[in-house]
Amino acid sequence: MTRVVHTRADLRAAMAEVARPVGLVPTMGWLHEGHRSLLRRARAENATTVATIFVNPRQFNEAADFKGYPRDEERDIAICEAEGVDIVWIPTVEEIYPPGFDTTVRVGAVAEPLEGAARPGHFEGVATVVAILFAVAGAEHAYFGQKDAQQVAVVTRMAGDLGLSTQVIPCPIVRESDGQALSSRNVRLSAEERAAAPVLRRALVAARTAHDEGERDADVLRALMEEVLAIEPLAQVEYVSVADPLTLREVQRIEGPALFSMALFLGTTRLIDNELVGMKE
Ligand code: AMP
Repeated sequence: MTRVVHTRADLRAAMAEVARPVGLVPTMGWLHEGHRSLLRRARAENATTVATIFVNPRQFNEAADFKGYPRDEERDIAICEAEGVDIVWIPTVEEIYPPGFDTTVRVGAVAEPLEGAARPGHFEGVATVVAILFAVAGAEHAYFGQKDAQQVAVVTRMAGDLGLSTQVIPCPIVRESDGQALSSRNVRLSAEERAAAPVLRRALVAARTAHDEGERDADVLRALMEEVLAIEPLAQVEYVSVADPLTLREVQRIEGPALFSMALFLGTTRLIDNELVGMKE
């Protein structure tokens, strides 16, 4: 049976009684197969699984994007039930940010480029809410998707720097059969835009293939990704990056692991994707 709680106090009280270790899966709801993979991993590795569903206003850059974010609480709870989640925390905005709330967690250099540059304030919103989730849930493990690779780097830095006892565990990207990464935002795409979306994957695969064949010049790989993206007329490219996966700094020559990433608009919907290369298995 999945227990649904709403307040900080109710979650704390519930956590005092559960079996350890606890695995936490923070989400903004509209759960899909990507979220489900995190829930399954948490369940496999922990005695208790906790999911949170909170559309965090502080990590959105535009009010319209926040308002229009897809929500379906009943369906999400049913999915949590089906995945054997023990506790779902669904706080209100006032519960997370009560009157007088006046703390911001700002992570440094790793939060600055890429998504941080394209979406000012985004990672402050993410780091602040994740610090609260970690503090209130007190889980041993928290599961995050590599889909948001910079977010993984930011929350790992934040938890380490603040001495929080929750270990951040990155999980692989789940994709549709055409290569498009699952995302709650995919529902916003028109049929034509959805058909164009796999161009992100094609660009990443082209770069990965060139890397596999020995290309180490990051400019060549960026140009290759841009070339593939340019074939899709609907795609408005925001950035293409070849960066160090830990610092998120752009690299010139690839000498170890590298993160290939990109952001683009299809119509009004912003999509991101990435590929990690050169990691030792
Ligand atoms: P969101 O609800 O979009 O904030 O995502 C909640 C968590 O699910 C984040 O850690 C995401 O990185 C992760 N996630 C979202 N989409 C995917 C996906 N396609 N594969 C794996 N994890 C994902």
